[in-house]
Amino acid sequence: MGNPGMSSEPKHISPDSHAMSELGESGIIDWICRNGPARPREDVIRAIGDDCAVLQFTDANDLLVTTDTMVEGTHFTAQTSPPDALGWKLLASNISDIAAMGGIPKTAFLCLAWTGNTSTGFMEAFIAGLTDLAQQTDIVLAGGDTVESPAGDVVTLTLLGECRHGRAIYRNGARTDDDIWVSGYLGNAAGGLFILKEGLSEEMHARPALIEAHQTPTPRVELGKRLAQSGLIHAMIDLSDGISTDLSHICRQSGVGATLDRSAIPISEDLRQLGERTGQDPEQWALHGGEDYELLFTAPSSCRKKVEALGGHDPTLRIHRIGKIIQGTSVSLVDETAQADLTPGGYSHFSTPRQTR
Ligand code: ADP
Ligand code: MG
Repeated sequence: MGNPGMSSEPKHISPDSHAMSELGESGIIDWICRNGPARPREDVIRAIGDDCAVLQFTDANDLLVTTDTMVEGTHFTAQTSPPDALGWKLLASNISDIAAMGGIPKTAFLCLAWTGNTSTGFMEAFIAGLTDLAQQTDIVLAGGDTVESPAGDVVTLTLLGECRHGRAIYRNGARTDDDIWVSGYLGNAAGGLFILKEGLSEEMHARPALIEAHQTPTPRVELGKRLAQSGLIHAMIDLSDGISTDLSHICRQSGVGATLDRSAIPISEDLRQLGERTGQDPEQWALHGGEDYELLFTAPSSCRKKVEALGGHDPTLRIHRIGKIIQGTSVSLVDETAQADLTPGGYSHFSTPRQTR
């Protein structure tokens, strides 16, 4: 059958169209979701809106698909990320999305848009970092694309994974009275980025855990899988944009609100000390700093002991109970004396206004 050609009238850019920054990242995704070819189909179990798309694969297994891009100047600079760390982190951020569904990562596709001046040494280190994590997680690179970028390096990775049919954990399953849990410590990656950006060489040597959290994060695949297999978890997301933003996704999509117990937010000793030494507030890093790649999940409070036990398998990775899902739509931070709205303050692309092109 021949291609019928474009069926719509030529589209001209409307003179009153706005700059992307007016729509914002979530506005752009919502617009594409409404206007693009994102219609329902039987084999597409979950489409736009979660950490991964979920597709029917076999009778026994579902296919999970996620993709992430990192842009020079936005996600990394020579100062904040050596090339091997960049390769690791690009893969880690995708693995984290598979972990957030309770799945197992399997197969990667790598798209490189590199400037002609980018050195082969950069490529060697980048691929070495990516290969290191791929080998540790048994991921195979099966394809990609390579093009020249006129300015700045851009790297994109698409990752396929799998989970038992119907067992993926979504963002929209949180229910009133669920406990809210989080793995690990929050804000370490933002603290590490602060050290790198400010060039604080003493802190760099004193707090390698913070630098590692920013440059070579460990995605929580084993924990995610264990949580999904337990059948106890109602909703899950990975913390890529900061808990204030990522919890708001869970709440909005589940039609619920949340309260977070301020004293329970897990802040590492390293981050506290960094805050003290630099006059920064570690709580702001913990609430709004992105790229922690920890898991945030909710489960009924009646299962508290069992959930605690699920987190106890790895002595280096604690899980912390930090709040409750409530009726309504408000998300707030509570301590003994006050309750304050927790507005999404994580990183959002297109948040700086610009001129329309
Ligand atoms: P995450 O932070 O977990 O990687 P994102 O915030 O990047 O998730 O994306 C949220 C959802 O929007 C995902 O389901 C993603 O696939 C979808 N999405 C993002 N950008 C686009 C796009 N340009 N076209 C279609 N879907 C998109
Ligand atoms: Mg995610």
